[in-house]
Formats: sequence, C-alpha cells, structure tokens
Amino acid sequence: MIIIEKSSHSNSIDFNDISFGKNYSDHMLYCQFNNGKWEYPILKKFGEITVSPISLVFHYGQAIFEGMKAYKDKDGNVFLFRPFENFNRINSSAQRLEMPLISKSIFIDGLKQLLYIDKNWIPNNYGQSIYIRPFLIASDGRLSANPSKKYIFMIICTPASNYYFTPLKVNIEQKYSRSADGGIGFTKAAGNYASSFFPTRIAQEEGYDQILWTDSSTHSLIEESGTMNVFFYIKDSLITAPANKKILNGITRKSIITLAKEKGIRVKECNLSVSELIYNIRKNLVKEVFGCGTAVVLNFFKKIGYKCENFYLPKISYEKRISFFLKKRLLDIQHNVVDDPFGWRFKL
Ligand SMILES: *Cc1c(COP(=O)(O)O)cnc(C)c1O
Repeated sequence: MIIIEKSSHSNSIDFNDISFGKNYSDHMLYCQFNNGKWEYPILKKFGEITVSPISLVFHYGQAIFEGMKAYKDKDGNVFLFRPFENFNRINSSAQRLEMPLISKSIFIDGLKQLLYIDKNWIPNNYGQSIYIRPFLIASDGRLSANPSKKYIFMIICTPASNYYFTPLKVNIEQKYSRSADGGIGFTKAAGNYASSFFPTRIAQEEGYDQILWTDSSTHSLIEESGTMNVFFYIKDSLITAPANKKILNGITRKSIITLAKEKGIRVKECNLSVSELIYNIRKNLVKEVFGCGTAVVLNFFKKIGYKCENFYLPKISYEKRISFFLKKRLLDIQHNVVDDPFGWRFKL
C-alpha cells in the first residue's frame, strides 16, 4: 500500500532547456523505517523534510543512494532500464553499511507510482530522460557511534538532457584513492563521493576534468574514472577492470560489455596497469578510452596525464568510434527505438 498525498500545484518545465538537477518533479517518495520495520511509503509533494540535528547521517555518514533513469518513447510509453539491478545494488550497499534492506514493493512499486503521477516530467525527446535518485539515510537522533535504528528512504526525480560528447581530459592519480581493500568502494555510499571532491579539484586546477583512479596500495592498476567505469579499446580488445570489491559494478558497464560482445568485440575484464596503458599509447595501439555511467551514458577521453606528462589519444570522428556505436545502441534500446533482445526495458 502507498499513501498518496497529491500536490495541488504542478510545476512545469521547458524540455528544451533542461539543466541537470535544477528542477525536481512535483512529488517524491518518502518512507520511514521505525521499530524494526518499514512503514507505508508516502507519495507527497516534493519539498523539505525534517530530521533531528543528531541524526546519524550528519555525524557518521550512514547514507547510500542509487542513480537510474526512465525514458519515454515517441508514443509516450514509459520505460525503466534494468531497475532490478538498482534494486539489488541498493540492498548490497545497505548491507555493507549496516542499514535495513528495502523491499521490492517499496522500491519498485513506489517508483512506478511516483513516475505515474509525475509522468509529465518525463521528456520524450531522444536522449532525454528523467534521472531518478533513490536514497537511504540514517535518521536516528542519537549521538552514539552505532548503527541507526531509524531510517528514511526517499526517491526524487529530475529531468535530464541528452549529454553531448565532450571529450575528457583525465589524470592518472598517484596519491589519493577512491576505494581500498575491504572498504566500501563497491557501494554507492555518499562518503565515497565526499572523499573524491578534494583530489578532483586538484586535478581540475591542473587542467584535467576527472581523475583516473588507481588502486590504493600501488597506484599502478587502473580502476575507474571520476564516477564512471572506464574502458580501453586496445588493439582489438575492450578492456575494463573486473567488478570486484573496489570497483563499482556499473549497470552501464555491464550493458556496454554485453553490447560489445554482441557486436563481436573481444571484451576482457582484467586489470590494466598504468605502464601497460602508457606503453600501448606510445605504440599507438590505444584506439579509444571512455567512461560510462547512468548520468553521462558514455563519454570518451582525449587526453591522459601521468606524472606531469600528457598523452593524447587518436582523433577519430564520432561516427567511426566504437564508443559512439555502443552509446547509440544503448540509447536506442533505452528509448524503445529498436528491439530489446536482452530484456532490459521495463515498461510501466
Ligand atoms: C554509480 C557509479 C558508477 C556507474 O554505475 P551505473 O550503474 O552505470 O550508473 C560508476 N562508478 C561509481 C563510483 C559510481 O558511483
């Protein structure tokens, strides 16, 4: 059961002028965990919430989130993309951060209802979508450093525009780390992002857009880039780091692997060392490097910095890029422009 408190006012938005994260849809899903169980989720007007200043989320960072999108095809049908992957992932994050698991009826059914009452907020232009942000925070008012007994799960939505290709400049990180052995790198924990802001700003001051993260103990193996999984097209293989406990198991990553294999490209999920990468760049064997994730979809890199030296990747026109092909194939499936041979679309 979902309690619906419909907003009396509906905001409107010009889909020709979307700036990511600026406008939020009229409603949000709000659900409290109290006395060891989830209460009924409430769909209510998007707006402020009240929590105690001693909520654990503010002091000990017990907070996780997800990122997903819904798409409208030209006939106005609405589709989610692989939503059960997000559902499973938020629960694996919850487990690692000692938070209560969320049920399918709250996450999936709640989201369906939210998108249903806010369906006018879903753009129907190709490449546009509504970005969905489910999140879970510890709301218990106690200052003791123990897991919370109260939580709030929420879902909010913001229209997202088609990200055009802006080739990125990335720097191979030699000091800071995003993730460590035994840590929480595989989860979508809020703190992972907080800890990346400072090193990212330093990289930006040095003229890069993002960091190419390396392993925390030796800084010699490539992990991810910014908040994206990263792929290297070297000789005739697409290489990406294995989805282990230090790598976030991206749903875009997983989908790109499937689509590359469908296209007949060899995919290797293995560690790529910085020295191997630099060696192959020098030999002109690295054709493309790109990052991928739900928000950006896919973005290729043009420059890689390493220990104050810059390496430039080949200039290839968009249409000839394997990354362009894979991005278009993914968007076509997401937008119901082509068949969905993998069963990824979830029609509302
Ligand atoms: C969310 C995220 C990704 C991308 O995952 P998707 O499921 O493809 O959106 C990659 N790396 C990090 C660190 C992330 O938080």
